[in-house]
Order: sequence, then structure tokens, then C-alpha cells
Amino acid sequence: MTAPKTRRTRDSKGRKEMAERADLIVVGAGPGGSSTAYHAVKAGLEVLLLDRQKFPRDKPCGDGLMPHAAGEISLMGLGDWLEEPHHGKFSGFSIYTQTAFLHQKVPPTLHGPYGYVVAREETDARLVGRAEEAGAELRSGVRATKLLRSPAGNVMGVEASSDGETLFYEAPLVVAADGVGGFAGKGIKAHQNSVARRQYFRNVSGPEKDHLHVFVTKDMNELGAGYGWVFYFGDGRANVGAGVSTKTLERSHRNLKDFFECFLQEPELADWLEHAEPEGPAKSWSLKMGMWGAKRYAQGLMAVGDAGSMIHPISGEGVGYAVESGRLAAAWAHEARSRNDYSASTLFGYERQLRRKRAKEHLSGYALTNLVPNLQMLEPLFKACEKDPDARRTLVEGFTGDAPIYSLLKHPKALGRVLVSTVRS
Ligand SMILES: Cc1cc2nc3c(=O)[nH]c(=O)nc-3n(C[C@H](O)[C@H](O)[C@H](O)COP(=O)(O)OP(=O)(O)OC[C@H]3O[C@@H](n4cnc5c(N)ncnc54)[C@H](O)[C@@H]3O)c2cc1C
Repeated sequence: MTAPKTRRTRDSKGRKEMAERADLIVVGAGPGGSSTAYHAVKAGLEVLLLDRQKFPRDKPCGDGLMPHAAGEISLMGLGDWLEEPHHGKFSGFSIYTQTAFLHQKVPPTLHGPYGYVVAREETDARLVGRAEEAGAELRSGVRATKLLRSPAGNVMGVEASSDGETLFYEAPLVVAADGVGGFAGKGIKAHQNSVARRQYFRNVSGPEKDHLHVFVTKDMNELGAGYGWVFYFGDGRANVGAGVSTKTLERSHRNLKDFFECFLQEPELADWLEHAEPEGPAKSWSLKMGMWGAKRYAQGLMAVGDAGSMIHPISGEGVGYAVESGRLAAAWAHEARSRNDYSASTLFGYERQLRRKRAKEHLSGYALTNLVPNLQMLEPLFKACEKDPDARRTLVEGFTGDAPIYSLLKHPKALGRVLVSTVRS
């Protein structure tokens, strides 16, 4: 792969500026950006990958990689790395609700029976490393500040800043992979609709360290939707966190820190954490979920991962979708270059395929979490799934993103139980 070309241009005041030129500029080197860059380079494009931070860097996350996410990461040549023993490897889910306990193996799918728990500091550094090894040119410590456009309005590149210097990068196509950053402004749209906080602990004493533990508590679900979690690594540490919808915050007039601290005091958690030692402070971040209402393509532009609202609205899982949407965006970047056509109508192909692949799961999950006033109302459903193995598996597939949540309609016995219990109460 040849390195992007560099040439001198003049800025609006006539000063000489250095500009680098590539086929594609990717803004943000998280999982979405690194995947876009990796796959685009593999397809033969010259790629510049910009990130305002320097790697390795932390990113608040539950660190859970669902089986489909692990599959995507394996496609980047990191399948063996996932197996390293200090990573968590899970084969099941333990879901604790107010009235039910759902114990379920990872449902059988094309993605295999395991998922992983890997600290994002390590995952993101590995993914960006793969993009660089493939031939992408990483510029870290470089913050993209605006899109450059021709007088006709076509995307021509990106203006950025680094150490107080203004930099220019030229390309006919830009992928926004800047997470919740929103650098592409009006060209691209995504909505923040949840917030989450996590902290690392050592010596958490809960059971079944090869399960993801998910707590649908009364506190987080009586006015909206949310859950807490304990995800174990393989080295004695655990990621403990809680996330709630922004609606929950508005309705309760409470903040995320408060929900997180209440979660740590839930009787079960307090017990598991009795002898645990925190490692570093708790950290929060926001989430853009559910695909709904987002705009992921425009002339010369595509958005992947969180920048395109690609987080699953039930699980809050976004790494796999960021990597997957990056892979698809890379294919469309290749297509656009082959046609020498970066129009919105060409790039709509990216959106169409992404919707075909993911809209059912994301939009139905989004509808569920938005139409049901609070998740507490679903307790009869959880209870019915506890007793019905097929319905339980389907519910968990709704969580892992392997089935749309309305697949539960295929379980009339469980739904009958829900109906009876609702009528009785
Ligand atoms: C607390 C919490 C728990 C979560 N738990 C999970 C989980 O267990 N599993 C899971 O799969 N997902 C989880 N998610 C979601 C997951 O973290 C995101 O979906 C994922 O990070 C998306 O990757 P991304 O590449 O789109 O964005 P990011 O990872 O946010 O990467 C964006 C990158 O862009 C860079 N950037 C931003 N603005 C600019 C700019 N102007 N110029 C240059 N660079 C810029 C940033 O520095 C960053 O490196 C969780 C989220 C939160 C908040």
C-alpha cells in the first residue's frame, strides 16, 4: 500500500499549508474507524485515519464482546488474540430481574457459542494497530474540526488541529467514526439517548464468572429503562456498570452517578463487592442507540458506529456494530472510488445494506424501549421466559442482537402466561 501523498497548498490568507491527500479520510480511530480503515486499505484504498487522542487510550465501556462482535474482530485477523487468558470468555447469561432469574447459555448462532470481555484500552489499540499494519496512515493527536467543501458543496476533505496548528487533509470521501463527537455537523445526524458508567474492580465474589451478569433493577426500570452489569475478565478483575435512558434521568430528576451508586448498593451487588477493591475511578459516557432518526450518508460522507447511532437499544452493545458498519462503509468507499461517484445516491447503497442487515433488531428494540413507559411492565414477560426455555432463548437473542425482539411473538405459551398474569394483577 502506498502512503498518502503530501502536497503544499495555500490557506485563505495565502500562507503555505501542508496538505495530505488520500482516497478516504476516516475521522476517529475507535472500533468503527479502525475497521473502516482496515477494510478500505485491504480493498486497495489509500486511507488516512485521524484521532484526537493517542493510543492506547481508555474508553468507558462494559468491555463485553458479543459473539457477532468477536466474529467481526476475527475478520480483522485477531481471532487468536481474543483467546488470551487474561480476557474474559463467556458462554452464558445470568439475568436478574425483580421477579425472575433467567439463566441461559449463549444461544446457538452462526457466530459461535462464546463472547469475550476485553478492556477497551486494549481492544482499541489492537484494532488501530491492525489498521496500521494493513497500511492505513494513522495521525493521532489530530482533532478534525470541519469538513472542507468545494464551492459546489462537495466534500473535499477535513480541516483539523493539532498542537495549535491547523492542518488540511484532502479526500473525496470522509467517514465519520467519531463516536458521540458529532464533528460532521449537519451532514450527519445521530441522537444521544442513553448514558452509562462503569468502574473496574478486583476480587468481585459473584458466581459463574463465565456468564455475563445483567441486573434489571426496580430502581432503574420503574420510570424508564436501564440495567446494571458485572462482566468478568480472565485475570480476577471485573467491569461493573450501569446504564439508563436519558428519559429515565429526565423523569426521575436524578443523575447517572446516583443510579450507579444505588446499583452498587443493591443487596446482591453489595454482597459480591464486599471484599472487592476498585481499580481507578468510575467513568461515564453517552450512547447513541437504535439507528432511528439518524442520517448515515450524504454526498462524500458516511457515518459508522456510534456516529451513526449503531448501538443496540436493548443491550447497549455497540463495538460489534461499529466494526460491522465500518466493514460495510469500506466496501462502499471502494465502490464509490471505482465509479468515481461520491454522490449521496451512490452512498445510499451503504445505508440500504446496513438497514437490511440490522434495522429489524435495532428499530424493534428502539420501539420497545420507547413505547413501553417503563421496563418494570415487562416483569410478567421475564417471569414467563424464566419457565419457558425456547422463549428465554429468544429473549436472550433479542439482547445479543441475533433476533428482533418481536420474535417473542412466536412463543404463544409464554405470551399466554403474560396475559393471564396481567389480567390477574
Ligand atoms: C459505559 C458504557 C458501556 C458500554 N458497554 C458496551 C459493551 O459492553 N459492549 C459493547 O459492544 N458496547 C458497549 N458500549 C458501547 C460502545 O462503547 C460503543 O458503541 C463503541 O465505543 C462505538 O465505537 P465507535 O468506534 O463508533 O466510537 P468510539 O469508540 O467512541 O471512538 C470514537 C473515536 O473518535 C475520536 N474522535 C472523536 N471526535 C474526534 C474528532 N473531532 N477528530 C478526531 N477524532 C475524534 C475519539 O477520540 C475516539 O477514539 C458501552 C458504552 C458505554 C458508554
